[in-house]
Amino acid sequence: MKDVFRANTMYFPYIQAIATALIIYMLFAAPAAEWWLISFGMYFLTGCLGITITFHRHLTHGSFKFRYKWMEYLFTFFGAIGGTGSSIGWVAVHNEHHKNSDADGDPHSPHNGLWNVLIPKYDFEMNKWAVRRLITNKFHLALHNYYYLILLVWLTVLYTIGGINVLVFVGIIPMGIQIWTSVLSNYGNHMWGYRNYETKEDSRNTWWLAAITWGEGWHNNHHAKPGRWNFQHKWWELDPSAWVIKLVKA
Ligand SMILES: [Zn+2]
Ligand SMILES: [Zn+2]
Repeated sequence: MKDVFRANTMYFPYIQAIATALIIYMLFAAPAAEWWLISFGMYFLTGCLGITITFHRHLTHGSFKFRYKWMEYLFTFFGAIGGTGSSIGWVAVHNEHHKNSDADGDPHSPHNGLWNVLIPKYDFEMNKWAVRRLITNKFHLALHNYYYLILLVWLTVLYTIGGINVLVFVGIIPMGIQIWTSVLSNYGNHMWGYRNYETKEDSRNTWWLAAITWGEGWHNNHHAKPGRWNFQHKWWELDPSAWVIKLVKA
């Protein structure tokens, strides 16, 4: 049964289409500003605590340790409900990205064509060695194997407790924001902006991408020093995720 729910990119275009349509519809329907603030707050949980801090800087690069183990699990759950895949899938894909940056095996290089960035078709199980620690962890493995079931339960719970507005603004719109900021990151981080370091791939720093992705836009800094949890290498390269990491690291 778990094959049906396992994290993969097959359903990504549908989630992307529904979430995008809802964002556009709600922009015209103009609900109370508080709802958008709630979506933004959720995007902090999914994007900053979940994907940037936990999937990326902690689980993929091991650049810091959490003060408490439960933080890894809670924040991993936040990352998962962002709708861009499981921790195992994310780490596998991102490892390939660092290994083959802007070359043939890069899962989302803009230099390999716009479409593979816009509508990702990653194989989440492309790199078992990179995720060996997560595969042997019951929590991460269950999250990967039952990914779509967990998303369905999450959305059902939201609808049950709060109705359609909660489903849309707490559940689906934050996914839309997460998906589009990820697309923009994957594209722009290797296409737009300046370089502090002459790294072998075409990574770049872009201030406005950093602003909308909790600091991930200082991407050339990151490729140059992937083991660093702080992406700020110049005083004005503000990295909000690093501020949060200071609070949660051991
Ligand atoms: Zn990169
Ligand atoms: Zn990285």
